[in-house]
Amino acid sequence: MKPALLAIVLWMTALPVLAGQYGAAPADLEDHLARLKAAYPDVIADFDLSRLVLKSGETIEVSDGRTDKSFEELLDDPDIDDMFAYDYPQGAEPEAPDVNVDPGRIRVESLFRAIYGDCRKNEVAPLMRKVAWIGGSVSITTRNGVDRALEAVARDLAKLPQSMVKYLTPSAGTYNCRPIAGTARMSMHAYGASIDLNTKYANYWRWRKPGKDGKLVWTNQMPKAIIDVFERHGFIWGGRWYHYDTMHFEYRPELLEN
Ligand SMILES: [Zn+2]
Repeated sequence: MKPALLAIVLWMTALPVLAGQYGAAPADLEDHLARLKAAYPDVIADFDLSRLVLKSGETIEVSDGRTDKSFEELLDDPDIDDMFAYDYPQGAEPEAPDVNVDPGRIRVESLFRAIYGDCRKNEVAPLMRKVAWIGGSVSITTRNGVDRALEAVARDLAKLPQSMVKYLTPSAGTYNCRPIAGTARMSMHAYGASIDLNTKYANYWRWRKPGKDGKLVWTNQMPKAIIDVFERHGFIWGGRWYHYDTMHFEYRPELLEN
């Protein structure tokens, strides 16, 4: 084979690697699965390294065997082990994440439907309950104790200095049966398990043009004291994502140590 031709063949075989490198299971997969089961005891009955067994009798495969996903495929077609692709930096100072580091943004929809119901079949709205919130009230799902967790958040937020109130109220919403903007994937708002705080102090990756280097420009106004309270009670913060959404908190205790 001529050197030029050989170079082309080598270049072509390298393409799949360059195109995608996501999808491998984390080394500590078993720990993650144990925490997942502990986080959703009403839904997950058992697990091994190959599958989750739900109390309904349904099973969900842990791995689809793929390790060559593009980042878009990781988001659009994840398996269970992909949900743990990034460690969530609980308690860290708010700062810009590295490119595509989105801990918690990768969600297997069949699992979340099993936990919270399918809003398109009207299974989510009947499970919502109104709980006290700073300056009023919000509705949140009663599945999995999310309502009690949010009540605990509200109680702790009420102890923070008065200067924090402006970030917390009015809430920009909880339950909303909709896909994530610009995608076909359901938002955590469709499960009634997330809350957006005051839009006035929100920063969102789609609202700001990328920098000259093509990278997103992370921006945040949310104080750490508020993030700490949510994380203490099982909610992750959307400001810890490269694709940031700083008014957004969602209930994901499997990613937190509490
Ligand atoms: Zn949100």
